[in-house]
Amino acid sequence: MRSMPASPLRVSIHGGHSGQFCGHAEDTLEDIVKAYIAQGYSWVGLTEHMTPDRVEHGYPEEAEAGLSAKDQHTRFTEYIATARQLQEKYASEITLFVGFETEAFEGYQLWLQHLLDTLKPDYIVGSLHHVQDMLIDSTPADYRKAADVFGGMDALYAAYFDRQYELITTFAPAVVGHFDLIRIFDPDYRKRLVKPDIWPRIQRNLKAIKERGLIMDLNLRALLKGHQEPYISRPILEEARKMGIAVVPGDDSHGVKNVGQFWEEALQVLSDAGFDLTWESPV
Ligand SMILES: [Zn+2]
Ligand SMILES: [Zn+2]
Repeated sequence: MRSMPASPLRVSIHGGHSGQFCGHAEDTLEDIVKAYIAQGYSWVGLTEHMTPDRVEHGYPEEAEAGLSAKDQHTRFTEYIATARQLQEKYASEITLFVGFETEAFEGYQLWLQHLLDTLKPDYIVGSLHHVQDMLIDSTPADYRKAADVFGGMDALYAAYFDRQYELITTFAPAVVGHFDLIRIFDPDYRKRLVKPDIWPRIQRNLKAIKERGLIMDLNLRALLKGHQEPYISRPILEEARKMGIAVVPGDDSHGVKNVGQFWEEALQVLSDAGFDLTWESPV
């Protein structure tokens, strides 16, 4: 265990999903921003999920609520406008960045480019929650089903990291979100990540991140879901440090109660892995 600087600045590079703009989150965006201010955050990136091009590419909560893709897009446009207002309103108390988190469903590229061109976020978090249009982070049953479609877990991992590589090299998102989310429902992930079919893909993606000067999100939501370590898991984190990639905590908050959650753990994980706890800003 290494010693930590007395008080590293509190930041979140990936946060601010709100019940106002996302069916699986809680609370208003303003209440979430106020919670960050109350906890003394220096800067926070608001990074709501991007909307789908069609409803099948979205989240089940939105479909169940009867929101069409167009409805979701209208709400997403309101999200950006609201976030911009909050950015200005609270500028003297906190630096807010207005961003969003990507998806990488089949054919996402044109839609994402359209969102970037029209909504002009400060930055994006490049994440994927689908592999071949199958959501991988919703339920263990869906996850297993996706693995079956690919003929096994190793192949599912390989497909995930290949799509992530495509996302990184096509869009160079300033931040790469929860790099190894694919491990979410896999109790054997530690062994799997270092397999000869998978580890070289991880190294390839890290190299692409490094070459483009992108930041990785140390995503704390994994701890909320019962994992023993955040995304990025330890061997990948160590590789990132060796390569000189910036890693910054993201609480991936989906409501007031997640704001600042697991902050101490984040500092511990990063300092144990040899990072210096000074944060690169996404913009
Ligand atoms: Zn979410
Ligand atoms: Zn995500």
